[in-house]
Amino acid sequence: MCGIIGYAGSRPCAHGVLLSGLKALEYRGYDSSGIASFQCGQIEIIKAKGKISELEKKIKDKPESFCGIAHTRWATHGEPNEINAHPHRVEGVTLVHNGIIENAAALKKAYEQRGIVFKSETDSEVACACLAILYRSEKNKLKVLREAAKILKGSYAFAIMFEDEEGVIYGMRKDSPLILGIGEEGNFLASDLSAFIRFTRNYATIDEDQIVRITNQEIECYDSDLNRVDVQVQKSEMDISTIEKGGYDSFLLKEIHEEGRVVMDTIHHYMKNSLQELSKTMIDLKKYHCIYFVACGSAYHAGVLAKNLIEKYARIRCECEVASEFRYNSPILDEKTLVICISQSGETADTLAAIRMVNKMGVDSCAIVNVKGSSLEKEAKYVLPTLAGVEISVATTKAYCAQVAVCCLLALNSCMDRLSSLQLHTIEKQLQKIDMYIDKLISDTNLDGFVASIMNKKNVFFIGRGIDYALSMEGALKLKEITYIQAVAYPAGELKHGTISLIEEDTPVMVLISDEKLVDKSISNMKEVKARGARILLVIREDLYHESIEADEVIFLPKVSEFLQGIVSIVPYQLLAHHLAAKMGCDIDQPKNLAKSVTVE
Ligand code: GLU
Repeated sequence: MCGIIGYAGSRPCAHGVLLSGLKALEYRGYDSSGIASFQCGQIEIIKAKGKISELEKKIKDKPESFCGIAHTRWATHGEPNEINAHPHRVEGVTLVHNGIIENAAALKKAYEQRGIVFKSETDSEVACACLAILYRSEKNKLKVLREAAKILKGSYAFAIMFEDEEGVIYGMRKDSPLILGIGEEGNFLASDLSAFIRFTRNYATIDEDQIVRITNQEIECYDSDLNRVDVQVQKSEMDISTIEKGGYDSFLLKEIHEEGRVVMDTIHHYMKNSLQELSKTMIDLKKYHCIYFVACGSAYHAGVLAKNLIEKYARIRCECEVASEFRYNSPILDEKTLVICISQSGETADTLAAIRMVNKMGVDSCAIVNVKGSSLEKEAKYVLPTLAGVEISVATTKAYCAQVAVCCLLALNSCMDRLSSLQLHTIEKQLQKIDMYIDKLISDTNLDGFVASIMNKKNVFFIGRGIDYALSMEGALKLKEITYIQAVAYPAGELKHGTISLIEEDTPVMVLISDEKLVDKSISNMKEVKARGARILLVIREDLYHESIEADEVIFLPKVSEFLQGIVSIVPYQLLAHHLAAKMGCDIDQPKNLAKSVTVE
């Protein structure tokens, strides 16, 4: 959510570097952008509503600069327009901000009385005023930042420039990501590595409460008592091709095509060549009486699937809760409970708040997380990484599949003693070639009939039972996210308890059937909606299909063990959302109103 990049360089190329950084951060979601740079001792600000190309047009004739800060905004306070776009300036202080200042309203009133005239509606300008007012009487900038950290409540990552200190950028963070980049020809501050990976692979994380100061030559880091602390420089192994489209029309489509590989990488990480390895690499769930899965969006859907498999096969009670509800629902947690938080970015604000509450209560916590070095990874007691690599498209596909893969292995590890050696052998063999199943499904699936049936429709229903319901939720979300078509998922048997009243002639109903024990029940539910005029779009495991099943369009899934089915079965729904969005001319990778990593509650 929102992107920050700052660059202090030894060559006059800051605009080019900052624009390239902003473009790399575009995937996080934004509605406006801006740059502030030093021009002959003064700070110039240029901002634009909409795409970065608008900012680029405005900046192209401006003289280059050695040092600047830039921002893509995802509005929380005040509409997305040019005035509210960052950077903001108050007196000699200019900043960009990611996050939310929770006490902004009260501070604003107080600062107005001290002569500040606010131009924007943002909380970020209030933070800027806070620094400016402190700077009126305290000329040590590190002390100003430390004092501001005591006053400002909420979450923030800041990159800050003072007009009287050309070529210098200050940074600090709380509950929002900000990292350092250490280059040959200058240094960086940014929301994530992708912003500067084209210029340097050397980076360092910034802890909460630390203040950093960068110039073209030096990186200084201070703790909360303003003592200088060492910066641990690390080298990123990030594959630059993951942040390039590589011939695909969208990152989303490219990332769907990467699913076979990333799922394989993730599985290999945990089981090498044998399922027996899982006992060493996974957590033993059997020592807990209850497992809570806590997550948001697609990650929540991975949790619903995990609950289903673990309860069914390991017979351990599971709960799955949306992170923003979890803390306020008074969950009953004790020393026999494990809370597993799932997040792609590891910075999801609600999920982080949940794990902090759990840790405080002394309850065991675990993170299933994609981004190395993320807050969730640092704060969880146990970590189960997904190896999906960088995911650029705002709507998740490959990272979700990797989360499901980890959940399936977790379930498998907790019930191995209940499975026969033949079952285990079959599962192991299938896991070893899971990439083949996925790749073949991607290349064989023809969705033309599905696309034509949904195009121009207002409502789509997704139904399924058991894990097929968990997958239907994810299918419906994908469709909503990138095509803006209203889609809703229901357990197949539940539709008739109310919602069936919405079925009309030709309403598309997506039916997912992959469980042989539930196939007859699901077919009955399918007939109920068919009788009311629905257009049935069926996705079914190939061996469960027979001619008498009345569907308008059919797609076949390979027959694999239930432990793998969730990883494979979602592929047609992801492709469907992509093909429809492409046909409708939607912005596939950056859907409106959405942000990649949701760092506000
Ligand atoms: N809360 C700030 C605003 O609305 C920052 C939003 C962001 O993180 O982009 O301007």
